[in-house]
Amino acid sequence: MNILKNYIDGVWTASASKETVDVVNPATQEVMAKVPFGSGTSVDVDLAVQAAFKAFKEWSKVPVLKRVQVLYKLKSLMEENMESLAETITMESGKTYGESVGEIQRAIENIEVACGTPMLIAGDVIEDIATGIDEMMIRQPLGVAACITPFNFPSMIVFWFLPYAIATGNAFVVKPSEKVPLTMMKIFEMIDQLDIPKGLVSLVHGGKDSVDAILEHPTIKAISFVGSTPVARYIYSKGTANGKRVQAQGGAKNPVVILPDADIEMSSKIIADSVYGCAGQRCLAASTIITVDDQKKQIKEALYETVKSRTTGYGLDKDINMGPVITPQSKERITGLIQKGIDEGANLLLDGRNAHISGYERGNFLTPTILENVALDKELIKTEIFGPVMSLIAMKNIDEALKFVNGGDYGNMACIFTGSGANARKFRNEADAGNIGINIGVAAPMAQFPFSGWKDSFFGDLHGQGKHAIEFFTQTKVIIERWPNIWSRKF
Ligand code: NAD
Repeated sequence: MNILKNYIDGVWTASASKETVDVVNPATQEVMAKVPFGSGTSVDVDLAVQAAFKAFKEWSKVPVLKRVQVLYKLKSLMEENMESLAETITMESGKTYGESVGEIQRAIENIEVACGTPMLIAGDVIEDIATGIDEMMIRQPLGVAACITPFNFPSMIVFWFLPYAIATGNAFVVKPSEKVPLTMMKIFEMIDQLDIPKGLVSLVHGGKDSVDAILEHPTIKAISFVGSTPVARYIYSKGTANGKRVQAQGGAKNPVVILPDADIEMSSKIIADSVYGCAGQRCLAASTIITVDDQKKQIKEALYETVKSRTTGYGLDKDINMGPVITPQSKERITGLIQKGIDEGANLLLDGRNAHISGYERGNFLTPTILENVALDKELIKTEIFGPVMSLIAMKNIDEALKFVNGGDYGNMACIFTGSGANARKFRNEADAGNIGINIGVAAPMAQFPFSGWKDSFFGDLHGQGKHAIEFFTQTKVIIERWPNIWSRKF
């Protein structure tokens, strides 16, 4: 069985750890590889960081216009290898082939935006800020930065950070999720072809041990994390206590409000895609659907019809809308939450717990579930389900809906479906979430904009992507200077 190597100092290197965990295809349970795990992985992190620091010294002196040339090359390589990358994403994460292509495109868009770094990195100058004195602000790289990423977007999430980090002159260490390390193995085969100093970009595998080594390493100056809220909180508190700059994106529970004046047919299709796309394993998956006033019955019927027609199966097969969830444990947790909701009084409209996918009987499949009248103060409404489950609840008016939206712990996304500009504007202004969708089901910021989670969905100040990323990976230096013209003096 293939034990995955790290990519350190420009060389594929066996881990110092003898411990491994299996990389499993969630649709078939086939073990595709073994990934290094355990305490030995902290040695790998140290080697990667030492090499990164050496590379940073050289790279930070390369002009920014030259630095971004490697990003153009990486973009081309990813486009040329789109098919095999997408297949790998589907095989290890379970999402459909179309969803895999979509996430690679979003990754590439971040490369494209980072290619604008020669302008984005510009500072400020004020001449004669006082008589004969000029002042300027320049942006300089931090040194070595690292990212720690989750299983649900094996390619895209690394690109919220990596292109900006290296374009601004830093060295970068990637620690992907141990559940989906194969996509990054492929991407690092492409990184290996770039004309960059050895060690500038490294790949280290592992779980908590390698993460702790990153949090404790004195040479690492900045950490970008994406994953569940308890781990995000841990990374933020430990990383900042160790003097690092940290941005940590956490979990979510995304409410969607449908007002009576919404286009019901269009809204139902978009909402179904949001709830069940990627089998509900998106941090921007809609989860609680709030109907308002008298359109409850119509919406319920429209959603039911749309959802019933969705197909579930292996993501590499044709005409499949939804793949499996990531692990058997995840499937068990989701079915447990559904049962708990029923026990607490919810009405089960569509039961996805007994999925039978012919040819993939061992896969972690669930088909779409819809529950209605879910108790507002119970776990199903409060917890991130991260699975293909929709909870339908009813409210009297937009104010009641907003109160519910703002009462949750998370603030990743809130959406409204309406034909009224005034109601949309009210929602946009008053909803406590960092990403707002208006007649949009997955309000994912494009690469030019920050991925703006709030509350328990984000710990830090500057988010991933766009200008925020440029700021996160640079430190400002302000220079104030006077140049008396000594030659014009009379002696
Ligand atoms: P996770 O928190 O279990 O793992 C994320 C990363 O942290 C992995 O690399 C893992 O190896 C590491 N890790 C896990 N446990 C750790 C621990 N105790 N100490 C240190 N490191 C640890 O998350 P996941 O299950 O891979 O991903 C799903 C979660 O990610 C969901 O909650 C989802 O909402 C969230 N997510 C958030 C966003 C966002 O933008 N806010 C985007 C994608 C996913």
